[in-house]
Amino acid sequence: MKAAVIEEFNNIIIKEVPKPQLGYDEALIKVEYAGICGTDVHIFAGHHKQAKPPLIPGHEFVGRLAEVNTDKPINFKIGQRVAAQPLTGCGKCELCIQGRDNVCVDLNIFGVHSNGCFAEYIKVPLKKVYSVPETIDPKIVALVEPLAVAMHDVRRSNLLVGQTALIIGGGPIGILIAMVAKLNGASKVVISEINEKRVKFAEDMDMGFDVINPLKGNIDEKIKGVTHNMGFDVVYEVSGVQAGADLMTKAAKIGGTIMMIGIPTKSYIVDTGAVTLKELEMRGVRIHSQINFAAAVDAIKNNVFNDKLKRLVTNEFDIEDVKKALEFSIKDKDHFKVLLKVSK
Ligand SMILES: [Zn+2]
Ligand SMILES: [Zn+2]
Repeated sequence: MKAAVIEEFNNIIIKEVPKPQLGYDEALIKVEYAGICGTDVHIFAGHHKQAKPPLIPGHEFVGRLAEVNTDKPINFKIGQRVAAQPLTGCGKCELCIQGRDNVCVDLNIFGVHSNGCFAEYIKVPLKKVYSVPETIDPKIVALVEPLAVAMHDVRRSNLLVGQTALIIGGGPIGILIAMVAKLNGASKVVISEINEKRVKFAEDMDMGFDVINPLKGNIDEKIKGVTHNMGFDVVYEVSGVQAGADLMTKAAKIGGTIMMIGIPTKSYIVDTGAVTLKELEMRGVRIHSQINFAAAVDAIKNNVFNDKLKRLVTNEFDIEDVKKALEFSIKDKDHFKVLLKVSK
């Protein structure tokens, strides 16, 4: 099969590789579209601690069921469109038993720890496969993984109806968190973003987000203004940079919650004095658990906001141009989701 392989950092080539061999209870999926995520860019550039070449990257995809290896009855038809959760846990450890497969002691994320979806075919365990109706645009289904991440982030934050939320960083994950926070009944959803094009994009989503640029005007006054001097119930830190860390403790309400989502490339300093004095709760959050992947599939199946989701796809490249697509993702600061067209 055809696959995009990172042979060494900053070099990815299209080459023929053997089609994955199915183990028992596994499924082979023919990939239609794959999304490029910040993680793929980090792996390509050699900034990812766990991923090692040679590797087929990619963990966001939609495709068609090509083959299954099981003797149990299944609810799928060969050839139908499917989504699949791109990770496995051991299934046996304490965390897997709690449904926290995303932080399993033996976590395997496709495209990070093992081969991913920037290829004609990917194999996944059958229990990770979800059917998706033909009527839904596959480019929307390709966004199910980042949507699952946003659902995991909001659910784990315990955001309540009527509460206020600040999202630091208005990229694809930030916007998706804002969308899910709205869906969850937040009374006010504010996005902090410094890129003016992204500010405009968030405003144009027309979902009632307030967008603030912390580099323009007095941020403290703005926070007070939109939260009646209280600060935010939940702050989602997606930027992973020092300025974001400075803002998160400042912007959180006394007794509020901070969700640590952005992975810093360099450790940053947290104002732990503020955490103590304000009795803040800080919670780490990683990728998504299967229950949230299932919830994201359902949200797309039930067309909760598919038209808005589709707007996140700003660029499309053919898989043959994967290197160009990754370089574009590094250079261009204004895009949201870049999709690779892998097969028809
Ligand atoms: Zn991702
Ligand atoms: Zn486990």
